[in-house]
Amino acid sequence: MEHKLYLYNTLSRKKELFEPINPPHVGMYVCGPTVYGDAHLGHARPAITFDLVFRYLKHLGYKVRYVRNITDVGHLENDADEGEDKIAKKARLEQIEPMEVVQYFTERYHHDMEKLNVLSPSIEPRASGHIIEQIGMIDNILESGMAYESEGSVYFDVEKYNKQYHYGKLSGRVLEDLMSNTRTLEGQDEKHNPFDFALWKKAQPEHIMRWPSRWSEGFPGWHLECSAMSARYLGDRFDIHGGGMDLMFPHHESEIAQSVAANHVEPVKYWMHNNMITINGQKMGKSLGNFITLAEFFSGSHKSLTKAYSAMTIRFFILQAQYRSTLDFSNEALLAAEKGLDRLMKAWTTLEKLSPASTSTSDISRLQNNCYEAMNDDFNSPVVIANLFEGVRIINSVNDKKESLTADDLLLLRNTFSSFIGDILGLKQEEAASGSNTTLEGLMELVLGLRKDAKNAKDFATSDKIRDELTKIGISVKDTKDGATWSQE
Ligand code: ZN
Repeated sequence: MEHKLYLYNTLSRKKELFEPINPPHVGMYVCGPTVYGDAHLGHARPAITFDLVFRYLKHLGYKVRYVRNITDVGHLENDADEGEDKIAKKARLEQIEPMEVVQYFTERYHHDMEKLNVLSPSIEPRASGHIIEQIGMIDNILESGMAYESEGSVYFDVEKYNKQYHYGKLSGRVLEDLMSNTRTLEGQDEKHNPFDFALWKKAQPEHIMRWPSRWSEGFPGWHLECSAMSARYLGDRFDIHGGGMDLMFPHHESEIAQSVAANHVEPVKYWMHNNMITINGQKMGKSLGNFITLAEFFSGSHKSLTKAYSAMTIRFFILQAQYRSTLDFSNEALLAAEKGLDRLMKAWTTLEKLSPASTSTSDISRLQNNCYEAMNDDFNSPVVIANLFEGVRIINSVNDKKESLTADDLLLLRNTFSSFIGDILGLKQEEAASGSNTTLEGLMELVLGLRKDAKNAKDFATSDKIRDELTKIGISVKDTKDGATWSQE
């Protein structure tokens, strides 16, 4: 590879030169969503962060196998081991089958990701489709003596593992400190130690998602699926494992322990974690009422939003911060992102129309190099964007005849823009939203005018027909005292 890419490895806590285990192949695993509700801003950040990594590695010529799972079983309410299964709970409340919940929210997740121009992963495995692999892995962990069976459940023996390895190496925790800070909770007597986590849970009679095993009819623990599915598709040791910082402990920490115990090899070469998004300086949470779903952003329907924001605005907003920095959402920040993106996209359009001159007043190859250098420095997208805005300045000056570029430099700048804006940052020109799409607006004005004429002539059959036909293609018409208004789904 001609480019030297450095990425920050959470495991070593420093930037390291990226050297894949088996070049040009790269194996990358990212923890995907638990599909029991709509995706929110907090889901967009890891999706876009690792989409940027996926796109850039492909741009550099690597053959990337990107696995991002769907969690459809085993994720209990307190994120560790206790409470009701998140999907089963939703199914109970809605009185539907758990797999209906999974299907519905998986489709909505895919729809949101497509709008955000997040590429589909190479493989998107579901936890419930890999029960056999998970049971096989539990067998291996039991064989290595790092797990024990208790009342039909199987738990990972954290203390025993920690005698030989370090449980806490990823998140920088020390088990002895963790233990002294934790009270033993009631109802955990099945476990030897409160830090032991479930590999297999015996299903209570009311638990609907259950599979047979030699220990009990039950279900796998949440952490296990990622270890089992990453090993299944990427091997016992692979290049990159990503996810949000909130997953570092206990989820990723436990993944390492499980994989080492089962396969006797450190599973991941580079661990990458994106930082969190705060909302007006506050952590996001359902109880705080600042939990804004992507669908609400796209429609502007949440009370904290002053307007609707396009998917590309959200994407650009997220890319304006380096993935390891915190990112604070506010309407002002999104409005600024919307403006900035518009300026960038307009300049990109102008760039296609510029004519060459005999001399150049700017160094375009340096600008391109700066973009690569930023990406090679741990995917520093804000610095890439700053350099692209230097490009915007040059484009506008050339357009105003204050500066000039040769044919070669024009071509280089066009290539730089299409590689970095389009292929790497994954930004695209959006069809305008219904409010500003002039063709559609004009057509709707015409159609609603015809409907009004029909109504005035008391031809209600025609006016109703127009409304019904519009409804069929996703445009709803509402009659108000000021006339008819319309909106698009
Ligand atoms: Zn995971």
